Amino acid sequence: MTTISPVGRPLRPRGKLLQEDARRHHRSLLLQQLFREGPASRADLARSTGLTRVTTSDLIGELVADGLVEELGAPAEARVGKPPTLVGLAADATHIVGIDLSNDDRMTGAVVNLLGQVRARHEVAIDGATGQDAVDLVHRLAAELIALTDRPVLGIGVGSPGVVGADGTVIDAPNLAWADTPLSASLAQAFDLPVFVANDANTAVLGEHTFGQTGTGGLMVLRVGTGVGAGLVLEGSLLHGHRGAAGEIGHVVVDPDGERCACGRTGCLETLVAVPRLRRRLAEGAANGEDADEVLTRVGEQLGAALAPVVGTLNLQELVLSGPQELLDGPLREAADRVIRSRTMPVSGEGLVVRASTLGEDVVLVGAAVLVLAGQLGVS
Ligand SMILES: [Zn+2]
Repeated sequence: MTTISPVGRPLRPRGKLLQEDARRHHRSLLLQQLFREGPASRADLARSTGLTRVTTSDLIGELVADGLVEELGAPAEARVGKPPTLVGLAADATHIVGIDLSNDDRMTGAVVNLLGQVRARHEVAIDGATGQDAVDLVHRLAAELIALTDRPVLGIGVGSPGVVGADGTVIDAPNLAWADTPLSASLAQAFDLPVFVANDANTAVLGEHTFGQTGTGGLMVLRVGTGVGAGLVLEGSLLHGHRGAAGEIGHVVVDPDGERCACGRTGCLETLVAVPRLRRRLAEGAANGEDADEVLTRVGEQLGAALAPVVGTLNLQELVLSGPQELLDGPLREAADRVIRSRTMPVSGEGLVVRASTLGEDVVLVGAAVLVLAGQLGVS
């Protein structure tokens, strides 16, 4: 099976491109240019994409007819002669439904436009639902979100906890009691729309990479919620790993004498930093008269020790801690930052930024929209 990355192309060329494939590829090139650089004239688009003017005009006409691109008129500072007409992405002509399943108490969703802006929100309480009940809840949320927009829906994107297969089957998500659950297929059948399901941390890193004003270097988003996982974008592409489990740092043992983990081992990173454990540790600290900042600093130091080898190995530029900001964005982040720098070569720490997500708690929702943008339009 050929693995296709949401932000890349098939790893091996499939031989001679069919004409239809070439056309789709050229449409994606034009959309990608408009998505990344903003409005442009047809002549500028032809120049920047390397397509002929005839092909460019032809495809732009098609994209306008499809409602993905719109005519914007002439630029204000027109040069001598007939001013060129600019075209741009029709950001709100179609909408995307994004769903985030990474919270323990609720499923959140949003209607997102083609520029990653949230247009409407909705959420449903989980109330302990698992298995098929939890699948039904996702369906209900999707239906209610679709009803919130009067525009055509380009697709549904879902960030799910656990290990997710390339076909959108949730292979294993213990908190929702899902095993080999064909979430993508069931949503596609129910709503007759393209559906893309990916691991929540991978979804978060795609959201941050595409819409979060990131740099050009390696990016890691550590998603801290009920569980802990990471997503990595390196050299512009999402890192999948040998078995699609890249970024699963939550179940790396960091303290063999620590607490029992849901996975059966002892002292996984998740037992230190997952939100329920952090809150409990803070409550225990308070009962013993320990300052909350001391507790968070200690956890941050342990987190930094666990992440330093990753930062050093990959020479990351940005490390984003995503989760409840009142827990993460203070003494915990500062301690992690300090320990990472003290345990790696100076060159690893130069220019390294350890920060919160610029998208806040929307990072998975916006990332879910990126799954659809990449899958349907070839842009990201
Ligand atoms: Zn574990």
